[in-house]
Amino acid sequence: MGYVPGRFDREGAEHMDRIAKTVFAPVYPVLAEQILIRCGFSRGRCLDVGSGPGSLGIALAQASDLAVTLLDSSPDMLAIAEENVREAGLSDRVSPLRGDVHDIPLPAGSVDLVVSRGSVFFWEDLSRAFSEIYRVLAPGGRTYVGGGFGTAELRDAVAAAMTKENADWKSFRDKNLGPDNRERVAGVLADLGLHHRIINDDSGLWVVIERGR
Ligand code: SAM
Repeated sequence: MGYVPGRFDREGAEHMDRIAKTVFAPVYPVLAEQILIRCGFSRGRCLDVGSGPGSLGIALAQASDLAVTLLDSSPDMLAIAEENVREAGLSDRVSPLRGDVHDIPLPAGSVDLVVSRGSVFFWEDLSRAFSEIYRVLAPGGRTYVGGGFGTAELRDAVAAAMTKENADWKSFRDKNLGPDNRERVAGVLADLGLHHRIINDDSGLWVVIERGR
């Protein structure tokens, strides 16, 4: 089966896990480093929304002292994530949690850093999703939510490999990371009145929201 975006059942989860461990593998440590530098966190509580097999959350835990919760609405993704966490020897600091971004099963103000890669493009109600993310942010907390590959070199290498699996992959990527989507997200955040900045460079398209103290 070629890559089918938006397929999160067992077969889709196994496929995502496979590409996360091969084509995408070099991307996660680079993103983790960028997140830690750009958000200025190396400890505290982190939530990886739409974690899939858990690669970003695991890379963040490996590069910091963060305690990471992997949130995903797909039980198939989370089953694989749990296995990956165990294999990485991080079960004491990284834990899976089933839930939907539109109704995050965590208390208000309980998370210092919310990260998310490649999931926002599938959320049905951006306004509700970002309200929920803001609700769980602790005072002084930040987000790094969006999509991308870290560097232009990684982006191009991933594209070359993924196009072989799915001829439409580049247009899917460009739609997600392009100006229309950026404006759509910016509009939602402006309507919600959330103080934020958008990073849109070779690393990808990322929303950084800061919750005041
Ligand atoms: N973040 C991972 C990565 O970069 O390797 C996985 C990205 S995968 C393309 C998107 C993930 O978002 C899937 O695991 C899917 O189940 C999850 N997802 C989609 N909609 C969601 C929602 N409303 N709430 C929580 N997770 C969601």
